[in-house]
Amino acid sequence: MPLHQAIARDQVSPRPVYGPEFAARLADELAQLPLPGRMLRIAALGHAVFTTSLGLEDQVLTSVIAATQADLRIVTLDTGRLFAETLALIEATEAQYGISIEVFKPWKDEVDGFVALYGMNGFYDSVEARHACCHARKLQPLGRALADAEIWVTGLRRGQSGNRANAPLAEWDADRCLLKINPLADQSLETLQARAKADDVPVNPLHARGFPSIGCEPCTRAIKPGEPERAGRWWWEQDERRECGLHLSASVSGSRAQSPAHGQPKVTATAS
Ligand code: SF4
Repeated sequence: MPLHQAIARDQVSPRPVYGPEFAARLADELAQLPLPGRMLRIAALGHAVFTTSLGLEDQVLTSVIAATQADLRIVTLDTGRLFAETLALIEATEAQYGISIEVFKPWKDEVDGFVALYGMNGFYDSVEARHACCHARKLQPLGRALADAEIWVTGLRRGQSGNRANAPLAEWDADRCLLKINPLADQSLETLQARAKADDVPVNPLHARGFPSIGCEPCTRAIKPGEPERAGRWWWEQDERRECGLHLSASVSGSRAQSPAHGQPKVTATAS
């Protein structure tokens, strides 16, 4: 079935059912579109949720969503351990574009459970503890943010790390039963920096201080010249493919196993 017919069919369905084949065809189509066209096409597909971490990539996407008025929800995860600069950028972005960014926070009992078991900063002590913290502070809120979404939009870019080198423009996330779309997958850092500058996109001041990738404050450091973009994330861990677990698809990370503590998929060979 041609892609436009599939989209038309799905638009009248109360709960579109996408899959790997649809995702592959959509990826081919998106590759032919400029960024504004991509966002409008995504918004036309169904209930789309864009998760932003307020990093450069996500800020560019937010600016495009605002400019095109594409109908996407914009959400962010406030882990409770973010940099003050990141928190300030939420309000600054809302003010600049006249938009609302929904903030999802971890449940207090989940965080209390982690702290009781490992200590507030126990994530430094073991990969298991770090995964448990990311689960409580990131994955659980993400699950709520995506609860009724049909489409998950991210700012993943292939050049961010070797781990993300094969990220497609669109893929089927079988674990979450979602169409996951990465509209910036094929964009370069330089292209996005130029676009942000030209469009006066508000960016996190930490980028200019050596933080190309910004996560939670205790788990992010500035990188040194020549280091990979994400070298400052969980720098004390040895696994070069480390991710936090938000992006678990085969195209982005390594193997998975069930977490006995939470019954949720967790990254075993990686950490986000
Ligand atoms: S990045 Fe660090 S502080 Fe943030 S949720 Fe993961 S382990 Fe916890």
